[in-house]
Amino acid sequence: MTENETLFRGPLGDMAQTEAGPAGVHPADLYMAAVSWWSAAVAPVASIASWPDAPVTVWASVVRRDGSEGDSLHGLLRRLLSESAPLALHHDVTNRRLLGAACHATLRAERAGVGAPGFLLTGSPFTAGRGGSSISMSLEGPIRQAWGGRNRLPTRGVGRYRAGRPGPPFGSLWEVSAREWRGFLATDAATYSRLLHFSRRSAAARCTDPEPGSWRHELAAAYGWAFNTRPELTYTPRAGRQWHMIRTAVDHGGDLPEQHADFFVRIGDHVSRIAGTLATTERTAIHSAHVESAWSLTRRAVLDTADLAAMDRSAVEQFIKGLDEMLCDVEPEEGRAAPIRPIRPAYSSLGPRGSGRHGGKTATGSSAVRKLKEWYQDQCQMCAAVLVLPSPRHRYSEAAHIRAREDDGPDVVENLLCLCPNCHVLFDAGARILTDDLRVVDTVTGRFGERIRLHRWHFIELEFVRHHRRRWTGDERRGALSD
Ligand SMILES: [Zn+2]
Repeated sequence: MTENETLFRGPLGDMAQTEAGPAGVHPADLYMAAVSWWSAAVAPVASIASWPDAPVTVWASVVRRDGSEGDSLHGLLRRLLSESAPLALHHDVTNRRLLGAACHATLRAERAGVGAPGFLLTGSPFTAGRGGSSISMSLEGPIRQAWGGRNRLPTRGVGRYRAGRPGPPFGSLWEVSAREWRGFLATDAATYSRLLHFSRRSAAARCTDPEPGSWRHELAAAYGWAFNTRPELTYTPRAGRQWHMIRTAVDHGGDLPEQHADFFVRIGDHVSRIAGTLATTERTAIHSAHVESAWSLTRRAVLDTADLAAMDRSAVEQFIKGLDEMLCDVEPEEGRAAPIRPIRPAYSSLGPRGSGRHGGKTATGSSAVRKLKEWYQDQCQMCAAVLVLPSPRHRYSEAAHIRAREDDGPDVVENLLCLCPNCHVLFDAGARILTDDLRVVDTVTGRFGERIRLHRWHFIELEFVRHHRRRWTGDERRGALSD
């Protein structure tokens, strides 16, 4: 196989191609690991419209050829991605106690409004013992149940985690040795059909160099977008047909080695999850380019499995070739996808902690205020002032509603600004309004000022900005004018 067979796509693809060389890892390994990491960051809030119960979480394992250690991929990703996609938690989990601890930490961070509701499980499911390593029996049960339960941990028997409510969703990125992997295949301990795996390759010499820093910016924006939109992703007609073909082909697996049929059952599942994950990085519907990139990763995992499990490789290659040809035959017309549906409930229907399926995930009320002040560290978004008060020494700021509370403005971060008391009064009295691109206008002098400071995950709903402007100027569109 050559590197070219992996179709790199979007900011994660840019990241893999830019950063893999210097880090001494193979770009495709880094790409797959990054998809897994990213999916754990966005999976708690993104889903696929035609398949709403399935999160986009991708479980991946990277198999080291025995003797080749190298840098840990999740260590590398932690460094690269933690800025743009902070998970509530990413932790080596090797036993049931640590799994319980991970659940608790995730839940606490979410309650405090400072973390994502999901986490990434790293490390390895294997424990070392006499006669080599074997899968940790204490981990096997919860993980197997999570696989059957939409990637949510079971609530019973995992540490002190309280029964009766679903555990947090999680993804997985394991790094295992080839020897452990063969042991994995030989046992029915865990359902390896849910793992996409790669055998670890060494660094590629070639390394393209897209615009410096661009993938970081794109991913940070995508992360904020996902959390504020809670997107329900749709397929374009062409992408949908391609995905359907892959599923159908797998269902009629043909000459695939029967003894390993379990692995191949999930190919359609993998492709859909990866394509969905990639689409979130570009804030679009799922296009054929996402399906094709997802297939290129899955195809490589299938061939690696064939090697690691000593399958009849020619049958597997035949199957792959057939699928490659079918995908190319789908007419090139992409077609338009239905718009991505945000699944966040309407503001007016939000109770104190939200309501409906995804209730409680949009920060509301005091948790929104906490989140806002945490983001800005009490610095005013308009004038940058920070007020420090004594005894006990603390910073002071106010959460200002953009659409006023008395006008039914909701207590959500999309409708809040972190302001100093002066700017708060000026804003509430209409002495300051905001343009559509969030520049401050002094309505007394008519002067246009700077753009307000904006934390990268703070998405302000334009509807509220316009409402505020309309209230004080009577002209909704005035702010869209330039000076
Ligand atoms: Zn101020």
